[in-house]
Amino acid sequence: MLVTLRDVPADAEIASHQLLLRGGYIRRVASGVYAYMPLMWKVLKKITSIVEQEMDKAGSLQTLLPQLHPAEMWKKSGRWQSYTQGEGIMFHLKDRQGRDLGLGPTHEEVITTLAGELIHSYKQLPITLYQIQTKFRDEIRPRFGLMRSREFIMKDAYSFHTNEEDLKRTYKNMNATYNQIFKSCGLKAFAVDADSGAIGGAASQEFMVSASSGEDLILSSSDGKYSANQEKAVSKASEPVLLKNKKPTTIDTPNQKSISELCSAQGLKPSQIIKVLLLIAILENGQEQPLIISLRGDQDLNEVKLTNALTQKLGTGVLKLSQISPENLNSQGLAAWPFGSIGPDFQDSMLKGSKSWAKSFLRFADQTAAELNCFFCGANLLGKHKAFANWALLGGVPTTLDLRKAKSGDRCIHDQNETLEEKRGIEVGHIFQLGRKYSEALKARFTNENGAEESFWMGCYGIGISRLAQAAVEQNHDEAGICWPISIAPYQVIIVIANMQDPRQVELGEEVYKNLKSVGIDALLDDRAERAGVKFKDADLIGVPWRIVVGRDASNGKFELVNRASKETQVMSTEEVLKKISSEIFENRC
Ligand code: ATP
Ligand code: MG
Repeated sequence: MLVTLRDVPADAEIASHQLLLRGGYIRRVASGVYAYMPLMWKVLKKITSIVEQEMDKAGSLQTLLPQLHPAEMWKKSGRWQSYTQGEGIMFHLKDRQGRDLGLGPTHEEVITTLAGELIHSYKQLPITLYQIQTKFRDEIRPRFGLMRSREFIMKDAYSFHTNEEDLKRTYKNMNATYNQIFKSCGLKAFAVDADSGAIGGAASQEFMVSASSGEDLILSSSDGKYSANQEKAVSKASEPVLLKNKKPTTIDTPNQKSISELCSAQGLKPSQIIKVLLLIAILENGQEQPLIISLRGDQDLNEVKLTNALTQKLGTGVLKLSQISPENLNSQGLAAWPFGSIGPDFQDSMLKGSKSWAKSFLRFADQTAAELNCFFCGANLLGKHKAFANWALLGGVPTTLDLRKAKSGDRCIHDQNETLEEKRGIEVGHIFQLGRKYSEALKARFTNENGAEESFWMGCYGIGISRLAQAAVEQNHDEAGICWPISIAPYQVIIVIANMQDPRQVELGEEVYKNLKSVGIDALLDDRAERAGVKFKDADLIGVPWRIVVGRDASNGKFELVNRASKETQVMSTEEVLKKISSEIFENRC
């Protein structure tokens, strides 16, 4: 089953995905569904074993929870709807009795229910449980192989505490455990502040492997004091170019619909314009809420911040946010709107008669928009804008929040002499202080020291095992193939017999293989009847960290030891090789 491919598979866009397919590590079975072939399974088992070792060291107990989840638990936590409707990612089904079930994308519901049933007293706390298993998520855009798949291996842990301080202690320890896990896997990973979703307040950190192909945008200060996922990042926006106050007027702006069209026709800077986004929010309570979001013309909306703000304000989750289009108006039975000329004060009466939408807009302004005293904005008539307008003229400032996307070049909040720089990363882990959201919803309680009932404090901690394996390839490869870190490589050494016709080479190759195996070194013997060049190419492609080439020097009992990453080559005897490789493996064991 060790089949390597010569050609770059057409549908694989990033290096790690191409190399894992070409190296015979994975095979695609369906969109976002992959088979882990024997080489891959060895890598995954090595990662798993490092994770287990560190989690055990941290005092966490391993368990294995079911993947079929009854809908009731998810209804109790309030997540059934958002996970199964709209852009929800839970695969769900009905059993032969017609009962709803979901395939586990994450396990807060199941573990919290069990904890509530089994933990009665503060004396049983704190406790952390973890498992390593396949998760299912019907991702909207599965891509990049194991990076974003619909079936993937995750380590997820959940901790239970009597109070918040204790939760924070475990959270901090888990941070250290995670750093050690990634280091032991030979990965360069770092922690960033992350969005904690609609729960609000609770701390959350993601662990990122830097890679230009990464899906996450990370903003960091160069002093190293601040690093956050763009979803969460805060910053101080650049100063606007102020307009000289003049008498407000309405001006003709034919065909000036975008910020850049308006700027070039009117000689403006984007920061002198208020742009509005017209959105429709589909809410968990079934309502469809139209929104007007006012932003400074040079800023962009951070949808995660808006989603969190809406959830908090309305007390219900957001299933979907989308831009209002002319087609939407049509299907609501509404007349056309003057898109491109709409201002923050666009009247609620424009919603009159809509089929399913709420009949008034919810209006928000980003802080930078609210701070402008004089600006241009849409006049709510096609081809017209208001010049030198102000908020009083528009009936007041809407609810003001931080809704903008922080971006590179922005000044940092902690030190305004520092600016944010951006890089891309792959999220390999996520730790999160859940607080009491799930224990309250699922009524999971314990009796405290005073005999009173309380809900647990909880934390959760994930690592994408299969994503981590591919991230390691993304971080460690060259034009010839993979260069696995030795701790997670499928094999530590590959022995290539250059000429299978030469009995001395075959004999020496087999001997060194046996010797390596006998001291516990994970070795692979390539004794295929292929040309040496083909074997070298394959060895480079699959990325085994050390290669022993049994060739011409075999007659003297010597062979070449080649380092895959540095290509350094030394001629050695069996004894020397055993010593060298044992010490390398030993030194790399953190
Ligand atoms: P993302 O933001 O990438 O969608 P997430 O925040 O939904 O991930 P978590 O619920 O925190 O992910 O899951 C824990 C870990 O599982 C992530 O840090 C990531 O490494 C991994 N993971 C999540 N979704 C996938 C997926 N579709 N394929 C592979 N690994 C995944
Ligand atoms: Mg995440």
